[in-house]
Amino acid sequence: MAYTPAKPAIHGETLDSLTALLKEHGQPAFRARQLLEWLYKKRVGSWDEMTNLPRPFRTWLAETFELTPTAFLLTKQSEDVTDKLLLELGDRSLIETVIIRAPQLGVGQDKSRKTICISTQVGCAMGCKFCASGLEGLKRNLSAGEIVHQLIQVCRQEDARTPRARAELVSFDNLVVMGMGEPLHNYDAIMRALTILNAEWGLGFGARRITLSTSGLVPKIRQLADEPLGIRLAISLHGATDEVREQIMPVNKKWPLAELLPAVREFSEKHGRMVTLEFILIAEINDSLDQAEKLRDIALDLHAHVNLIPYNTVEGLPWKRPSLTRQERFARVLEDADVSVTLRREKGHAIDAACGQLRLKTEKAREAALI
Ligand code: SAH
Ligand code: SF4
Repeated sequence: MAYTPAKPAIHGETLDSLTALLKEHGQPAFRARQLLEWLYKKRVGSWDEMTNLPRPFRTWLAETFELTPTAFLLTKQSEDVTDKLLLELGDRSLIETVIIRAPQLGVGQDKSRKTICISTQVGCAMGCKFCASGLEGLKRNLSAGEIVHQLIQVCRQEDARTPRARAELVSFDNLVVMGMGEPLHNYDAIMRALTILNAEWGLGFGARRITLSTSGLVPKIRQLADEPLGIRLAISLHGATDEVREQIMPVNKKWPLAELLPAVREFSEKHGRMVTLEFILIAEINDSLDQAEKLRDIALDLHAHVNLIPYNTVEGLPWKRPSLTRQERFARVLEDADVSVTLRREKGHAIDAACGQLRLKTEKAREAALI
């Protein structure tokens, strides 16, 4: 299951690790920053473009590190709202990175808010019954470098698209760790990657604009609460009682609500900001008024925001989204109690079509064509 690439990805290195390594190789201390500038500010695609680095040093870098741990395969656009980048890793595994554009009224496409959704694993071990990512289990963890490089791919796409992008360093507004995989199941790599993305010598992206979503790995939520990097947290709740949650999320057997909810409270108290509870609405599974009332009570108790997401059908799975009337009836129970709640409407289908579906399709096509 583990994959060790021939060369580690340079994007998994930090200023400290690079400085130490380059010192060992007799390079002056300022080289690390020069190199990081080529990687994150100029975002060049080849070692040869790093013209202020001595040629022998560039040769050594090329022999030691991978500069492109993810290769761009294709983009799939959906209703003008999302761009999915399908990326291939060194072992031919496929991952997806999604760019979600939410146009702002009265301004052009360039000024739309962009949210980037990144993956942290190939597949997922958590086995949620409704999710395409978990259908075939976990193939492997992504390395920190592979996680970071997804953002470099996004930046490069955007650099080519708008002049704004390069000028502004990073051209996106929010980063959500909600693609394929359970991020807290690959804890060290995701934390290292987020540190690199946040660092002033990296992409310089604000921690407050990063949201990590988890299916509820309680000890890791506690660990995350103690990290100095103040990222936001979203919990995939999807059931307001153990009975319902357990039916669709096996993780609930290990960490039932009585353990999960106190950990969420601890996180939000330590950080002083609202946690988001994500709740996919699945017809006949969790869309009853009783579930709405119980979810309302949990949200009020935790002072949490609730994000209701109409279920996105997955090929081969029986689950369906409830009718619009039922979705709205559910939302009203929360609204009436002044819970901060959003129900994604029209564009939801495109926006939430994130979780591993394109990868699965391509993998099936690949098998069929034996490529
Ligand atoms: N593993 C993490 C993050 C990735 S999944 C987690 O589970 O939180 C990101 C979000 O997409 C989760 O809330 C997940 O439950 C949701 N999701 C998965 N499959 C979906 C589907 N078919 N329709 C709508 N949301 C889905
Ligand atoms: Fe994994 Fe999240 Fe999908 Fe569950 S919802 S299988 S944790 S990716």
